[in-house]
Order: sequence, then structure tokens, then C-alpha cells
Amino acid sequence: CAVVGVFNVKGAAQIAYFGLFALQHRGQEAAGICSNKDGKFHLIKDRGLVTRVFSEKKIKKLKGDMAIGHTRYSTAGDDSILDAQPVYARYDLGEIAIVHNGNLTNAKEVRDQLIKRGAIFQTFMDTENMIHLIAKSEKERLLDRITDALHKVEGAYSFVIQSRNKMYAVRDRFGFRPLSLARLGDGYMVASETCAFDLVGAEFIRDIQPGEMVIFEKGKAPRSIQVFEPNPHKCIFEYIYFARPDSVVYGKNVYSLRKKMGQELAKELPVEADMVVPVPDSGVAAALGYSQESGIPFELGIMRNHYVGRTFIEPTQELRNLKVKMKLSPIREVIEGKKLIVIDDSIVRGTTSKQIVSMLKEAGAAEVHMRISSPPTTDPCYYGVDTPEKEKLISARMTTEEICDYIGADSLAYISIDGLMRAVGDDKNYCKACFDGNYVV
Ligand code: 5GP
Ligand code: SF4
Ligand code: MG
Repeated sequence: CAVVGVFNVKGAAQIAYFGLFALQHRGQEAAGICSNKDGKFHLIKDRGLVTRVFSEKKIKKLKGDMAIGHTRYSTAGDDSILDAQPVYARYDLGEIAIVHNGNLTNAKEVRDQLIKRGAIFQTFMDTENMIHLIAKSEKERLLDRITDALHKVEGAYSFVIQSRNKMYAVRDRFGFRPLSLARLGDGYMVASETCAFDLVGAEFIRDIQPGEMVIFEKGKAPRSIQVFEPNPHKCIFEYIYFARPDSVVYGKNVYSLRKKMGQELAKELPVEADMVVPVPDSGVAAALGYSQESGIPFELGIMRNHYVGRTFIEPTQELRNLKVKMKLSPIREVIEGKKLIVIDDSIVRGTTSKQIVSMLKEAGAAEVHMRISSPPTTDPCYYGVDTPEKEKLISARMTTEEICDYIGADSLAYISIDGLMRAVGDDKNYCKACFDGNYVV
């Protein structure tokens, strides 16, 4: 998912809209914005892409100089309109809206307890827990209620919360999901990735730290509270796949790191071939790195249809299969009779690689050597990335050799965890549970 927050900026909803547009790659199932004019909330959310959910006319209805927004990629809950965000509620302190990127690992326990105490839920989202916890807290001030609630939830969250006159941005103590802060005119903006700031001309200030909450209040500089002792486990998969290459995530540019992953791949797993071909778009930067390191020419041997979104996000296997074909097709003139090194960022279920190899062979490729810029995905993510359950992960069921057979490649190899860490530059502060099974919570 993506979250944005805009505070003390004229036409805040318009800015939030552009922010979400830049962050569309983080979720395509639903989008929503809740703005606030003098304490009165305006909410529009629906299923579909940002451009489908919002029109100029709709944005105009979202009045006020505060807004929060969300694009949804379902990891918890349902693919229904009910599960679009922002989550909005009226309660004893007025109105409140919240957006969430992440996944609460104790959601079910908390929800069951709340239901026992009489809470009525409207959605299947873990995020709704926060609203109930805030509403039921005994504390008087909202800030204390939010803090109270945060002590009851566990797992991954970057939350942006809007009240009648304030905005709160908070990141869990592990910092699983990114969240950055920028200045925009006299106001401020927070967003999952810095590419949202670039689009609207906001000036990046810094990342919100793991365990930190930043409070925005009119006429005051933003205040920071360290709610939890930080224990950084930043998602390394943001670098491998999830984030946009032009973003600076955890202080480093994503594109440069992906290229380095490609360079490491070339060093670790060389192979003789005529050209290096990326699986677009996710494999492009790593393929360029591989090509430059190995001296083997880079060629765009596979075309991508840009009107098809990210294939992985589709909820069923049939849809995913069809979408891979709709999205990617080989350029026969480039690859015919050639030995190819094909680079992709990851193999999850094996859908993409299997189809790519068969397409390339049908189009006359002499050899296809798959090289993957992440280690084998052996374990599911419980922290906000929608990897399927363990049984569906091809690397949990098969050895690399078996996968190579299954996808029909001439060879298959993955970057090592050490190689990945060399590319990223330090090894202490990252979550890599989907590659090594070490879950911190
Ligand atoms: P597979 O087809 O093996 O199931 O998935 C691998 C492909 O999906 C890769 O091309 C990769 O770029 C993309 N991918 C891998 N992990 C994720 C994910 O968590 N979310 C999304 N949206 N795409 C992913
Ligand atoms: Fe990221 Fe993988 Fe950790 Fe999930 S398990 S937060 S995808 S590194
Ligand atoms: Mg891909």
C-alpha cells in the first residue's frame, strides 16, 4: 500500500491525489482521500486505480488544507469497497480518519477482544482495530489515545492519522515500511516514498524513524515523539522490487541499489551469453548492472505493454497467467538464435519466469539463463507485502534445480544473501524474513 498525508497546504486533496498517482505502483486495488476543512471531513474512496477513483470534480469536493490518502494492495482484509481506505469514523472526540501501510500481526486477537467488548466492525481490515482502540481508550487527549492504541497493536505499520485539527504520522518500531517527511510551502507532506514529493515539488526533509511519531499542528513546527525504542528491520524487498527506482528509501536511491544487485549477480553467477535481457520493468536496473559488470550487451528483448498493471497483484492464478501474456512479449528479431541472460527481481510462484522462458524459446532463443536479483523467496511476508502462503512459494517446495526444470530454463541462479547485503551496503538493519525465515515479530 501507499500512504500520503498533506498538512496546512491549500488544496491539500489535489496534492494528495498527485502523491497517490506517483505511488500507484504500491497498490492498484483501491484508492481514497479524506480531506478536512475546519474540522469537517470529506471522504472519497473506491476500488480501482487512482485516476479511476478521482476526477477533477471529485477532487474539488474534497475541501480543506489537510488530507490523507491511500492506495490499496490487499494483504489483510478483502478486495471489497468496504476495505478501501482511509478508514473514517465519528467518535466521542469528533471525527477521525486513518491510512495504513503494513500488516498488524496480532490483528485477530485484538479484534476478537474488541468484539467481545461490544465493538461492531464494518470491514475486514486490521486497520479498523486502531479506530476502535483509539475510541475505547480511557485517555482524554487524542495523542495519548493513539499512543495507548499503538501499545496494543503489533507488527508492521506506517500510519497517517487525521483529526479535526492535527495530523499524526507514525512508523512501527521495526520500521518495516518506509515513511518520509517533506516541506511544502508553509505546510508539510508525508508519503511512503519520495517520488510523491518530487511530483508536487515538496522538499524532502528526512525519514520518519522507526518507533517515531510526528505530530502536525497549525502554527507550530512539527513535534516528534519517540513512542517506542527503535529496533530497525526495514524491508529489504522495497529495494529489490516494491519501491519506485527514482525514490530514495531509507536514505538510498533505489535505482542505484538495484544496479548494484545486478553487478553482484554478474560477479557471483557469470555465464557466457550474447546479451543481457531484463524482464521489464522490475528487472531493468539489475540487468543494466549485470551488463555493465560483465561487459555483455544489454538488449530490450522483451517488450512491456504499459497499459497492463503489475501482474502479481491480481487475486487469482488464471488472471495472473493471462496478465503476464498481455503484459510481456518477446522481440523475435532481437533474440532469435541468441544465448540470453534474462534478469528478473524475484521468483515467487514461478508464473512469470515460466511464461517468459517459454515465450522466449518459442520466439527462437537458443539458450535462456535466468538470473534473479533476490535470494529464493522461501517464506511468506507478514509485514505488508502480499507474498502467498508458504505452500505456494515455489522456492519453499522445490530446489533451484527443480525450479530450473519447471520453468524450462537452461540455467537458473539467484543472488546470495551476502551478495544482496553487499549491494545494499550494510547488513544490520534490514528485515529479510521472506528469504531467511527470521521473523522478528
Ligand atoms: P511470480 O510470477 O514468480 O509469482 O512472481 C514474480 C514476479 O512478480 C516478478 O516479476 C516480480 O517483479 C513480481 N513480484 C514479486 N513479488 C511481488 C510482490 O510482492 N508484489 C508484487 N506486486 N509483485 C511481485
Ligand atoms: Fe520485506 Fe520480506 Fe521482511 Fe516482508 S518479510 S518486510 S517483504 S523483507
Ligand atoms: Mg516483475
